[in-house]
Amino acid sequence: MRLGSGTFAAGCVVIEVLGVALFLRGFFPAPVFSGAERQAESPAPEPSAGATSNWTELPPPLFSKVVIMLIDALRDDFVFGSKGVKFMPYTTYLVEKGSSLSFVAEAKPPTVTMPRIKALLTGSLPGFIDVVRNLNSPTLLEDNVITRAKAAGKRIIFYGDETWVKLFPKHFVEYDGTTSFFVSDYTEVDNNVTRHLDKVLKRQDWDVLILHYLGLDHIGHISGPSSPLIGPKLSEMDSILMKIHTSLLSEEREALLPSLLALCGDHGMSEAGGHGASSMEEVNTALVLISSAFERKPGDVRHPTHVQQTDLAATLSIGLGLPIPKSNTGSLMFRVVERRPMREQLRFLHLNTVQLSKLLQENVPSYTKEPGFEQFKVSERLHRNWVRLHLEENNSEEALFNLGAKVRRQYLDALRMLRLSLTRRAAQYDVYSMAVGTVLVLEALALLLLGVPQALSSKAELDVPLLSPVSSLLFGLLLLALAALHVVVCTAADSSCYLCGLPWLAAGGVMALTAALLCAGMSALTRIFAGGQCLTQTPPQSTSRWSELDLLSFLGTVGHVLSLGASSFIEEEHQTWYFLVNTLCLALCHQIYRHCFLGDDCAPQRCPHTGEEFDGVEVALQGKRAGPEGWELSHAPKEPSSLEAFRGPERWMVLASPWLVLACCRLLRSLNQTGVQWAHRPDLGHWLTRGAPSHQKWPWRLACWASIATGQPLEMCCSHGNKTTKTFQNFTARTVGLWEIHSGLVLLAALLLRPHNLPVLVLSLVVQTVMTQFIWRPLRHGAAAVTVMHYWFGQAFFYFQGNSNSIATVDISAGFVGLDAYMEIPAMFLTAFATYSGPVLWASHLVNFLTSEASSGSALRRACFCYALVCSAPASVYILMVTSLRYHLFIWSVFSPKLLYEGTHLLATAAVCIFFTAVDQTNTKA
Ligand SMILES: [Zn+2]
Ligand SMILES: [Zn+2]
Repeated sequence: MRLGSGTFAAGCVVIEVLGVALFLRGFFPAPVFSGAERQAESPAPEPSAGATSNWTELPPPLFSKVVIMLIDALRDDFVFGSKGVKFMPYTTYLVEKGSSLSFVAEAKPPTVTMPRIKALLTGSLPGFIDVVRNLNSPTLLEDNVITRAKAAGKRIIFYGDETWVKLFPKHFVEYDGTTSFFVSDYTEVDNNVTRHLDKVLKRQDWDVLILHYLGLDHIGHISGPSSPLIGPKLSEMDSILMKIHTSLLSEEREALLPSLLALCGDHGMSEAGGHGASSMEEVNTALVLISSAFERKPGDVRHPTHVQQTDLAATLSIGLGLPIPKSNTGSLMFRVVERRPMREQLRFLHLNTVQLSKLLQENVPSYTKEPGFEQFKVSERLHRNWVRLHLEENNSEEALFNLGAKVRRQYLDALRMLRLSLTRRAAQYDVYSMAVGTVLVLEALALLLLGVPQALSSKAELDVPLLSPVSSLLFGLLLLALAALHVVVCTAADSSCYLCGLPWLAAGGVMALTAALLCAGMSALTRIFAGGQCLTQTPPQSTSRWSELDLLSFLGTVGHVLSLGASSFIEEEHQTWYFLVNTLCLALCHQIYRHCFLGDDCAPQRCPHTGEEFDGVEVALQGKRAGPEGWELSHAPKEPSSLEAFRGPERWMVLASPWLVLACCRLLRSLNQTGVQWAHRPDLGHWLTRGAPSHQKWPWRLACWASIATGQPLEMCCSHGNKTTKTFQNFTARTVGLWEIHSGLVLLAALLLRPHNLPVLVLSLVVQTVMTQFIWRPLRHGAAAVTVMHYWFGQAFFYFQGNSNSIATVDISAGFVGLDAYMEIPAMFLTAFATYSGPVLWASHLVNFLTSEASSGSALRRACFCYALVCSAPASVYILMVTSLRYHLFIWSVFSPKLLYEGTHLLATAAVCIFFTAVDQTNTKA
């Protein structure tokens, strides 16, 4: 069967997307959770030996009323640092002298709101992949404090972020949700919460009140943690806290039990104002527990201690007299109960360790060997003895206390170790799914590489031997072997992998695909070997000459792929691209100058490259292999060098154009600081959006100018497109429609991007026009070289726009442009488009450029093939790297977000390749 290179490449990329999806499913660990029935069992009774203890009920609650005041993005230093002292005087007083306990609660990445709320209430470690589902929050089915409280008859009131209402649709006796997606509003979101307070604080008909304030987070997203807006917002929060606290204190006089006011954050805020990753600023949140139960003597100085955010779930459960959620991995904050009698303290610790050890039993088959479990058994035995002594009542107080203190220490050790075992468990991978995904991706990549000689030939077609008898026999054998392997892996003990959970038909499909790709690869390999023998008989037709541009494309592509193995290179990937693009401009400059002044005839199209061996990742070279007949420009195909045709000012424009592009890149670079190392440095975007009020008009002025200017280059592009169609009427069908699509994409990007980013769009159009008019057209680079350059510019513009490899820079507000209410699919599409607008616009420009410039349709197919290869090679190699780095310290903070980016990029590449193929098909028909 003969396939066009484009169709073949698109097919390969689609398979790679499948493989990556499977890999991701296996890579992001399934959360540690408990599948046991919720209501079935009664609480663990107090351990006792000899004399029977009859304390089988749950201990009574410690607090009558609980108010949780959650301030989104409340970083620890907003409360405990200088900002807290300055703007939150009441809270600072409580922290330093009042009846309170303060903690720095460490949130686990991804530091995004919904997974954090879940962690706070279930105590479990939500999977990393939860970040993708953050936009859409379904009902929380896992065991959690709210559901337990509701079941125990507690009346819960909620005001604040709508996410809660989605997580707990039927749990609140009263609620008012505010949507968090209009990120630019930081006043109304909070007033909507506060307006209920006066009324609700006077009422007696509730037990738990939850408030979730979003304003601080929104200020962070708009203008960062050093914004002048932060101070007034913290003061506002401080006065609200004071109002709640005084009201609770006045009511407490009538109540038997004290009340609890918990001030907490869900995650922190990076120096750039976002969150999602695992920098210190993003994971450290403030947690202050305020209650008269924590009263202190004068001179009792308490410093904030470090705890895990997940510890709050167990602590709240104990505080409310509820069972601890089953999937909880946190431990009780012991300072909360340290004033209680020894018997109660031990009982609380026992309940917590029993719950953790049950969770361990459910998730770890060899749980008896875990040190935490052994420690738990030891503590329980000691506890039993202590209870016996306690009940005998003829022992000295001191001896009892000393033994009790020992048991307590043992329990705290057991808690620590159990938590460690469970956390380690949560980071376990589904190796089988990962392996199958990797095999699929690598097979597709190998097919692409093996197809290079044929795909980039003048016909740009491949012969795919699908039905030869040898390969069908081989296919059958391979399929059998793989099926056997599948059965063995899935029946082996202790395997909980995704592939084994699939229905047989789906798993069989995956196996068949793997086997088929392997067969295709093998037959391609045999053909190359057979062909290679023929080739050796004929001497190489000419010596291969690598121009410096070829060398640069090759080394740049390989170098970039290799750089992905180091975390700092991923964090600062923009630097790699800026460097490559600048070097490319200089190389082009060199080429032009040599061409113009020295009359060097090594214009790329005239260097015959045939028969040389090549490395797979290198593609720019293979374009040349196609030779002159493959890459003919629509105008003047016979003319040896069109550069000589340029006279006067146009010649000077050609000479100046690389410098113009360089200048544009330098300007764009200073628009958005990105990455990690220098992200806090001021940039032009900063100056435009956060500076003095006079600057803040600039984005709008820019927006106006930009919208006028975006029309301008487009006009040029279109007129240039029309010029071509006038001269060559048979191309009319090709170019019309494509420019409209391109302009449509540009306009959509203009709508979605932040106002201060509009210059990126304008300059991208300027660079595209300059490169087309003065570099690609006169110098007539091969389709492959032009593709690589488009890809490089696309990547550079991805970072110019302020993107990075951290989740914190994804601008979700773009997903809500033009939508009244939250709609999942359009929102996700718009967000993805806004993020990848750089690469997508450059790819669409490539299609236009090739369609209007190249005479033979095969150029488009070759370009599609090259595009697929340069885009999918990094993703495929990266999967291998991530697999080998899966126990790296930065795996969750640096490598995993990059993996998600690579996956999305590959998906975008698949879309681009399909678009390429569709355009190619229409052209062929026309
Ligand atoms: Zn948040
Ligand atoms: Zn946020």
